[in-house]
Amino acid sequence: MIRLVTVSPCYNEEEVLEESVQRLTTLFDRMVTEGLISAESLMTFVNDGSHDRTWEIIARLHRENHYVCGINLSRNRGHQNAIMAGMMAVRTWGDAVITIDADLQDDLEAIPQMVIALKNGNDIVYGVKVSRTADPLLKRLTAEAFYRLQSSMGVESIFNHADFRLLSRRALDLLAEYRERNIYLRGIIPMLGLPSTTVDDVLSERQAGASKYNLSRMMGLALDGITSFSVKPIYCIIYLGVVFLIIAFCIGIYVLHALLAGTAVPGWSSLILSIWIVGGFILIAVGGTGIYIGKIYQEVKQRPLYHIQDILTHAHENLD
Ligand code: UDP
Ligand code: MG
Repeated sequence: MIRLVTVSPCYNEEEVLEESVQRLTTLFDRMVTEGLISAESLMTFVNDGSHDRTWEIIARLHRENHYVCGINLSRNRGHQNAIMAGMMAVRTWGDAVITIDADLQDDLEAIPQMVIALKNGNDIVYGVKVSRTADPLLKRLTAEAFYRLQSSMGVESIFNHADFRLLSRRALDLLAEYRERNIYLRGIIPMLGLPSTTVDDVLSERQAGASKYNLSRMMGLALDGITSFSVKPIYCIIYLGVVFLIIAFCIGIYVLHALLAGTAVPGWSSLILSIWIVGGFILIAVGGTGIYIGKIYQEVKQRPLYHIQDILTHAHENLD
């Protein structure tokens, strides 16, 4: 029987927490009765340095409800760090972890489907938003533009998937090998490469409280998503330098023509040509330096080079 552990980050969620725990408890009870998960399954709430009564509520619910566990971060560290903290803390508590926001805007019915997908041999199950009608228009548009921009920058991530996902114990162990500081889980998880699938996630409105993600936080996440996974922006500088030199060449032809035709103003040709040539070389030099910086950046992250999924061996190879 699968022992499931959910992880929900909470930042000033006093208004919604009780209701969320109630809805999750109903779901857990049902899944236990159906024999899908064990009765020792747990739901973990990570208090991300809230300024309201969130932690008190978690502590009380922990006393009243045998499923509820709590983790209290010493201060606010942001959504991604709170999820990571929760997942790493509960890594050994169960067979799989599902991360779901504390406001339960995601589709609870996707949870049993994720567990079934796990039983069918998947280590990673992504919740993919099929309808964002519950999101405000601006959020929907910016979010979708963000996914597109990311994929054009070569960041491998799942379209319209946020942080609602199931990870098996094995996937969590691999994830623990990533020691980078700028965590962007939607980019890291696909790098694990384990068997994965998706389930539909029909988004609903927030039950209570307000969104903690304002535009500047979203921009910050988007920037992290690109700069932590792609060195393409640096390569763009070099391309720009080449474009400058091509323009310089065209101007050169024009200048030559002007000189021969006698229409050139003295001093103009050398000035205009050198601006474009020097500009082009400077851009190429900056981009070239940038490539080295990009490599240093990748080295310092010390990401694992590979993950071994299976090994077939004979007994004597293990003798050592
Ligand atoms: N959250 C967090 N730390 C933060 C900001 C948000 O743990 O600094 C949590 C928040 O409590 C919620 C989840 O991250 O459970 C997603 O936030 P929210 O629902 O406000 O974002 P939205 O759904 O509007 O994108
Ligand atoms: Mg939300």
